[in-house]
Amino acid sequence: MRRTRGQRRGTSIDLEQWVPRTRLGKMIQEGKITSIEEIFMEGLQIREPQIVDTLLPDVQEEVININLVQKQTDAGEKSRFKAIVAVGNRDGYIGLGSGKARQVRTAIEKAAVDARLNIVPVRRGCGSWECGCGRPHSLLFQVEGNCSGVRVIIVPGPRGLGLVASEVAKVILGLSGIRDCWTRSYGSTRTVPSFAYAVFDGLRKTYSLITPMDWVK
Ligand SMILES: [Zn+2]
Repeated sequence: MRRTRGQRRGTSIDLEQWVPRTRLGKMIQEGKITSIEEIFMEGLQIREPQIVDTLLPDVQEEVININLVQKQTDAGEKSRFKAIVAVGNRDGYIGLGSGKARQVRTAIEKAAVDARLNIVPVRRGCGSWECGCGRPHSLLFQVEGNCSGVRVIIVPGPRGLGLVASEVAKVILGLSGIRDCWTRSYGSTRTVPSFAYAVFDGLRKTYSLITPMDWVK
């Protein structure tokens, strides 16, 4: 896969040099599929990052975290960087991915590709009883996300509330297109990768028809 280094922060996926290697990729390049909604309605898998950039040309990305990972091997200490990157169009789509490499730049590029392959739709709405405006500025219902002992609860909020969340959660929620919500988190929330994946897990659950949280209320 070829990529150019763009002006945008992070990675820029080169669409001009793209030679699709999946059936879905070919259909998109031939213009047979023109919206990302079709992919999710059909339950298809995105295996090429260019698919996302073709269907969501305004996709943005943010580096969430970079860690130096040191591993003891027979040959001595091996250190690599691990990057976590979020992508989204600020209008109902969010992806989170990670990548490891010896160079920071390469780790970010790998994470940016992974984030695109993990992109999911976020169901938005006005689920706040204080608001009731009916616009998609928040969530329809409360969701809970989990990852490695971190639990994040995202609660619908009224218009104008903003994102009541930590910096990392704000970046991910903002990229997904949610403007108003409360968040509560439990566990080792300072572990940024787990926390970020817990937020992403919660957003992914906005499309579950029945959430366990609806039952325990
Ligand atoms: Zn509202």
